[in-house]
Amino acid sequence: MEREKVTAVVLAGGSGKRMGSDIPKQYLPIDGRPVLYYSLKAFEDCPLVDEIVLVVGKGETDSCMEHMVKPWNMRKVRRAVEGGRERYHSVREGLKAVEKADYVLIHDGARPLLTDRIIRDSVESARMFGACVAAMPVKDTIKVADAEGFAAETPDRSTLWLMQTPQSFSCSLIRKAYDMLAQAEAAGGPDWERLHITDDAMVAETFLKMKVKLISGDYSNIKITTPEDLIVAETLLKSRKNGNNLKK
Ligand code: C5P
Repeated sequence: MEREKVTAVVLAGGSGKRMGSDIPKQYLPIDGRPVLYYSLKAFEDCPLVDEIVLVVGKGETDSCMEHMVKPWNMRKVRRAVEGGRERYHSVREGLKAVEKADYVLIHDGARPLLTDRIIRDSVESARMFGACVAAMPVKDTIKVADAEGFAAETPDRSTLWLMQTPQSFSCSLIRKAYDMLAQAEAAGGPDWERLHITDDAMVAETFLKMKVKLISGDYSNIKITTPEDLIVAETLLKSRKNGNNLKK
């Protein structure tokens, strides 16, 4: 029997406004290499992943293949495609470029500390449940604010989880969900205006009413968003290099 094919869609099409840098955050250096290098390398080194589709910014496909994929010898990256305005537009472009996969792992290129263990667990749970997301319990109390900036509600912390990536799915299901999202966006209207898509699980939950399994991510699987994240990521990477496993 042929082994099922697993494709990673790695997103690097954002401009990173919150970083306050001219260079998009996925290309900023950590310990001498770009953030995106580490995200790609995790998939490159995991034997369960067959192929990588890289989604980059407008006009960046050739330069990314030339300066990122070839020099670092990322053989699994067969294609780089242009993303879109919002993250979900970029995911859609990535999914269009996926060829005949059984499972897709959608990952933020801005999360360089992805581990082999998380990738393996994602593939296994995507097979078992059809949809899963790497997640961790929140450590802080979360408040919902009102329009005037006052605390309005305090959800029970024991039910709250931080969503990370990879977010992993049966390929046919997530394609279908993203097609439905595109139709909803084209139709517009108040329902669409109310819907703020911030991750892929939400697309599967909203359009296919799927139950998405939360699997254990890692507190070190951070997303580079603001300048201090680079310092934290560099410290964590160096600590890993020195064989320091922070898990008890
Ligand atoms: O902006 P945010 O931190 O949510 O971005 C998460 C990931 O999605 C980043 O790796 C970023 O490059 C990617 N992204 C994208 N296309 C966009 C916006 C974000 O590929 N339009």
